[in-house]
Amino acid sequence: MCLLRYSAKHYTPLYLHSCRIAFLASAGINSEHLLAMTIVINDTLIKTNMDCIFDKIIAGEIPSKKVYEDNFVFAFYDIHPIAPVHVLIIPKKHIESINDLEEGDVEIVGNMFLAAKKIAFDLGIAEKGYKLLVRTGRDGGQEVPHIHMHLLGGARLREDIGPVK
Ligand code: 5GP
Repeated sequence: MCLLRYSAKHYTPLYLHSCRIAFLASAGINSEHLLAMTIVINDTLIKTNMDCIFDKIIAGEIPSKKVYEDNFVFAFYDIHPIAPVHVLIIPKKHIESINDLEEGDVEIVGNMFLAAKKIAFDLGIAEKGYKLLVRTGRDGGQEVPHIHMHLLGGARLREDIGPVK
C-alpha cells in the first residue's frame, strides 16, 4: 500500500481522475501499482482499487445516475432496479465488505446511514418507509466487492428471504 497527497479543489470527478492519473504517472506509478493503493485528495482519504466497478463509477469512468454525494459517500440508481426506488449508497473509500470494516471506518458507516435518510426524504419515500439491505459474501449474495447499501422503497416490499433450494 502507498500513500500520496495532492491538492485538486473544485474539479469534476472525471477531471480529478485524469489529474490523478497524470500525477501518478509523473511519480513513476503505473496501473499495476494502482491496485489497492491509498490516495488523499484534499485531506479526504480514498483507498481505491481501480479494478472495482464502483470505484470507476465514483471516478466518473463508468456513467451512473447520481443521486447524492458528500465527502464520504456516493449514491446512484441501481442499473437493475428491484423496487420502484432502488439506490445504491457506497463509501468513497474502497472497502470490500462489512467483514473488512475497521474501527476507523465508523464515520463512513454513520454517513452511509445519514445519506440513506437524506435520500429517502429527498425522493419522498421516508414517511411510507423503505428497506436498507447490505449483502456480505457469497451466502449473503454480494456480487460487487465494494460495500454498498441498497435503499429500496416506493412500494410495499415482500419479505421472502430464505435458503436457496
Ligand atoms: P449486490 O448483489 O452485490 O448486493 O448488488 C450489486 C448491485 O449493483 C446490483 O443490484 C446491480 O444491479 C448493481 N450494479 C452492478 N453493476 C452496476 C453498474 O455498472 N451500474 C449500476 N448503476 N449498478 C450496477
